[in-house]
Amino acid sequence: MPEPLPGPAAALTPDELLALDRQHVWHPYGPMPGRAEPLLVESASGVRLRLARPAEGRDELVDGMSSWWSAVHGYNHPVLNDAARGQLERMSHVMFGGLTHEPAVRLAKRLVDLTPEPLEHVFLADSGSVSVEVAVKMCLQYWRSLGRPSKQRLLTWRGGYHGDTWQPMSVCDPDGGMHELWQGVLPRQIFADAPPPGFDTPPDPAYLTHLHDLIARHADELAAVIVEPVVQGAGGMSFHSPAYLRALREACDAHDVLLVFDEIATGFGRTGELFAAGHAGVAPDVMCLGKSLTGGYLTLAATLCTAAVAEGISQGELPVLAHGPTFMGNPLATAVADASIGLLLSQAWAQEVKRIETGLRDGLAAAAGVAGVRDVRVLGAIGVVQLDHAVDMAAATRAAVREGVWLRPFRDLIYTMPPYITGDDDVARICAAVCAAAREG
Ligand SMILES: *Cc1c(COP(=O)(O)O)cnc(C)c1O
Repeated sequence: MPEPLPGPAAALTPDELLALDRQHVWHPYGPMPGRAEPLLVESASGVRLRLARPAEGRDELVDGMSSWWSAVHGYNHPVLNDAARGQLERMSHVMFGGLTHEPAVRLAKRLVDLTPEPLEHVFLADSGSVSVEVAVKMCLQYWRSLGRPSKQRLLTWRGGYHGDTWQPMSVCDPDGGMHELWQGVLPRQIFADAPPPGFDTPPDPAYLTHLHDLIARHADELAAVIVEPVVQGAGGMSFHSPAYLRALREACDAHDVLLVFDEIATGFGRTGELFAAGHAGVAPDVMCLGKSLTGGYLTLAATLCTAAVAEGISQGELPVLAHGPTFMGNPLATAVADASIGLLLSQAWAQEVKRIETGLRDGLAAAAGVAGVRDVRVLGAIGVVQLDHAVDMAAATRAAVREGVWLRPFRDLIYTMPPYITGDDDVARICAAVCAAAREG
């Protein structure tokens, strides 16, 4: 017989919680039981995480990760708390089939107003990966409805990341990434070379030709091109010239292929533009949003599409989009998302992102001189130190915690995406921690 838990949760000590966590709880990208012990967070406020059990002598850490790039306003924000509380008292959830409600309608209208012009319609999903599944389903169904069912493959460039469910995995970087195991089982997509690195680097004519040729050659079987615009996140934290996005738009138009921008990581100001598509001045046919959509409060994502895509689907043999998550349009999540976007737009967010960019450039310059560092790059509120070897994750994380900062390095990368409310002193502290992690990792 398993031991029953002692009374109320408060009766569990940090040690007991961590022992139970190790015994029963699966963590992201981890084995079971877990190898590394997670830090136990008791609460979070502003840019600080409070630990229930100190680590490296620290009971409070400055958050350099925005909880996987989502908590742009920091934690426990009064405006977002009020939005959640207010909605909770009306209703936390009702089904979206046959019913609708103000928070979802308001959010959809806001997203249509803010995103590039031709995006008109919004499908609300419960996570980024699901919004990518929906985007792919939209594109395949569009061509099927138009009598071109052979157009059912996707093209992307290497080095990308689009999520962990099936279709998204098939367009993640196929080499060395965490989904390599599934090659041969996943749908086989078409991969272009990774875009040449550098946001400010002039576009490489040979690469432009490569993109164009590949799209032209596979046009008959391609439903869509899907990419992360300007910043490839979890696939390697690399930046590329917006000129490549314009080239994709031209090639897709020329060859009857839809263009999907996955802005789940880049949306809502992270790169210095409200959406990364803004750097290129081009609009996709389908756009995915997630992560910071709710300011990091609740899980929510959105797939937006043009009127042409929606009309195409609606002309088909099956004139509906057969997708409808149980928690679609969740009122709590949509109310907080609407409040989070309102909060963002009520501030000089672009100036704040610029301020953090300057702080990251200044603070991370020192990393360039550290042995084993291959590259240091900054764009908007994203700072990256790339090593010439795989990072020792435990040692690097420990070094950052010693500096009072929470970082989560991966592969050969130590990076930060702090909340936009991070003050200059805390940005400097995060940079010192990234440098320490680079030295010890
Ligand atoms: C995180 C991420 C996803 C997946 O979102 P989840 O909410 O984790 O499913 C998809 N695309 C990009 C670009 C991401 O950064």
